[in-house]
Amino acid sequence: MTGGDGGVGGGTALYGVIIGLHFCIAVFGKEGGGFMRGVEMGVGEIELVVREALVAAGADFENAGAVAETVVAAERDGAQAHGLFRVPGYVAGLRSGKVNGKANPLPQRAGGTVVRCDGENGYAPLALKRCVAPLAECAKENGVAVLALTRSHHFAALWRETESLTELGVAAFACVSYLPSVAPAGGASAFFGTNPMSFAWPRSGQPPLVFDMATAAMAKGEVQIAAREGKTLPPGCGIGADGKPSQNPADILKGALLPFGGYKGSALAMMVELLAGALVGESFSFEAAEKDNGDGAPPRGGEFIIALSPQYIAGNGWDEHAESFIARLSAMPGVRLPGERRHKRRLDLGGRVVDEGLLGRIRGMAE
Ligand code: NDP
Repeated sequence: MTGGDGGVGGGTALYGVIIGLHFCIAVFGKEGGGFMRGVEMGVGEIELVVREALVAAGADFENAGAVAETVVAAERDGAQAHGLFRVPGYVAGLRSGKVNGKANPLPQRAGGTVVRCDGENGYAPLALKRCVAPLAECAKENGVAVLALTRSHHFAALWRETESLTELGVAAFACVSYLPSVAPAGGASAFFGTNPMSFAWPRSGQPPLVFDMATAAMAKGEVQIAAREGKTLPPGCGIGADGKPSQNPADILKGALLPFGGYKGSALAMMVELLAGALVGESFSFEAAEKDNGDGAPPRGGEFIIALSPQYIAGNGWDEHAESFIARLSAMPGVRLPGERRHKRRLDLGGRVVDEGLLGRIRGMAE
């Protein structure tokens, strides 16, 4: 088990000393000149720590549990930027009262192909958990269905919702906007959120084919972790407050990230603003920032998900047809399927190395 691969968490050289109780291992990782100290924990133990911190901050058991499952899934899959790293932010939103820890979001079939859900100002995971089944059912009845989730606070990776839909036999595309962090192509200040989007395709007997990515050159959580660890970013990730290109994550956090792929990524970020904002009836990133209290928790916003039933649309044989495409793609030398890295990590049922300092802070929040 390593301290993380991919992104800024990767390449950690670990050496450990067993320190006893609940098989903790103290590890030190040297990353880009910075040191981190970690402990290995079972995923069940991570979930408990998160749940306790959220309940202590005012969440009810169901809301805390849904968020904790999301955090644990990220740590399990090696997506640390959406794991424990996010918990202080989740707690801050509950403590400031911006986020409702006792939200009771109820999906409603709005007629036709639309499922609506008022998130009641809670964190998104509980609403999403409840929306997945009615959305898949609606897609299977109609070929296509849309979820319009409003008044929710999204802080996580999107693959959990798209992957959950594939488990019910439908393909899915999801997107959310955030706070202004990304300069549009040609611009010199932040306007778009990091605006991630995820697409997942169902496969029988195999993990789904799934991609999940920010439309920014780099997800903001990754930039924050790089700043914390004193790292330098690759060229093209962002600009400083002076509008000039920078590779210093601290400068970029004061300035703006850039979209991936120049004007093409910028166009996708713009699409996400419209789908997760105007289409579902929620805020754009700049409006979310105007209403936000700046407590470090995610702003109130919307999520757009479209679910598609291949069985309804293409009829029998869609599965074999898609598999022939995936087989050809993955047989190409040097090619790997998106999502594969996480799914491989998932097979490791052992503990996960987490940042000891961060863990201590979260434990302190639970007291
Ligand atoms: P990455 O750039 O790390 O990865 C993007 C996608 O590309 C993943 O599906 C990844 O699969 C795939 N991929 C990476 N390398 C390869 C390769 N060599 N060949 C094929 N596929 C590859 O993601 P980002 O940093 O852009 O985003 C990270 C996360 O941040 C996302 O989960 C996103 O939802 C989340 N996010 C959430 C926000 C929010 O407001 N809620 C805001 C912004 C981002 P794999 O996982 O297998 O590596």
